[in-house]
Amino acid sequence: MGIKYLDTVELKGKQVWLRVDFNVPLDPQGNITDDTRIRSVLPTIKYCREQGAMLTIASHLGRPKGEVDKKLSLIPVARRLGEILEKRVDFLSDCIGPEVEKAVSELKQGEVALLENLRFYSGEEKNDPDFARSLAKAAEIYVNDAFAVSHRAHASVEAITHFIDECAAGLLMRKELNCFDQAMENPQRPVVAVIGGAKISGKLEALKNILRKVDKLIIGGGMAFTFLKAQGYQVGKSLIEEDLLERASEITGLAREKQIKLYLPVDYVIADRFSPEAERKVVPAPEIPGEWMGMDIGPATSILFSEVMADARTIIWNGPMGVFEMEAFSEGTRAMVSYLARSPAFTVVGGGDTIAAVQQEGKAAKISYISTGGGAFLELLEGKELPGIKALKEKS
Ligand code: AMP
Repeated sequence: MGIKYLDTVELKGKQVWLRVDFNVPLDPQGNITDDTRIRSVLPTIKYCREQGAMLTIASHLGRPKGEVDKKLSLIPVARRLGEILEKRVDFLSDCIGPEVEKAVSELKQGEVALLENLRFYSGEEKNDPDFARSLAKAAEIYVNDAFAVSHRAHASVEAITHFIDECAAGLLMRKELNCFDQAMENPQRPVVAVIGGAKISGKLEALKNILRKVDKLIIGGGMAFTFLKAQGYQVGKSLIEEDLLERASEITGLAREKQIKLYLPVDYVIADRFSPEAERKVVPAPEIPGEWMGMDIGPATSILFSEVMADARTIIWNGPMGVFEMEAFSEGTRAMVSYLARSPAFTVVGGGDTIAAVQQEGKAAKISYISTGGGAFLELLEGKELPGIKALKEKS
């Protein structure tokens, strides 16, 4: 990858500035409802402490848009991190300034400080060099372990690397990049990609790039209707992107040209309206009546897709097969979760909704790798170089 990793850097007695993604979900009372994001960075935090670094941790939380918003303070995160580490975490009420620099300089080896929300300053999202320079003060080593934010050229991800000589990637970042590499760049074949979700528009580039890498492509979810319509099928009131019919045909043509098998649903669970209480029935894909809409893949499609994946040694999945948030239309997505959980293939899952579906079924432990980055994962699927990764490469 051409990146320097944390475990090749001498950390003892050094001031380490660690960018993480602690953008955890909060309930209306400000309590953390899921601390997965905190736990996923623990290996890096523990490693830095064991090596005798003085550790300053920084993150964003929510979208305060460059202004202080007390509801988006990282105070609850500092508390939870302290509980998990069974160690005091100093919460600093700002992320830049003389008081922060003083507190950081007083840290002893193995001690941890957490800075206040980076996005309380507009300079963060603007990748402002002055803001980055302020962040970098008092830091000797920069570590990026925030894969989920590395598709953003933000000050704490990109600009900061211009102000700190020694820059490295953390252990979570290494895991993300290695697993992606194992799934897309150097995979065990056959490789099957399963792409679903609402629309093609957000995933066009990903679909094109995926066709360069995989052996079979399965398309489910709402986006399949634009492909079906482009092939001349009637899709009733199903989700359609009229302006992308031609692009869908191009993708089908590209698959044919590359001799990659592209599979679309063969039957659907349809509904008379977009509602959990809607009337439902199962019909073959070409027979969706004019006033009805496809809400989930049907049982024959689930069987077809499982047969397509049967010989796979690598499976990459992004995007639900139907409107899984409504119980009545969740069967196809649940069948996909259970197939991947049983599969002996190397399975990689990314994207917020897809991960939510896996977690709802309690199958997260059965998936080889669940990516922590929604947008960043999609950009890797698109074949893009993430600004945060590029910055680290340039430093090494
Ligand atoms: P994405 O963010 O593109 O992965 O899309 C996820 C969303 O796609 C979920 O909220 C699903 O409810 C939605 N979705 C999946 N299948 C359909 C469908 N057949 N019709 C409408 N929305 C769908």
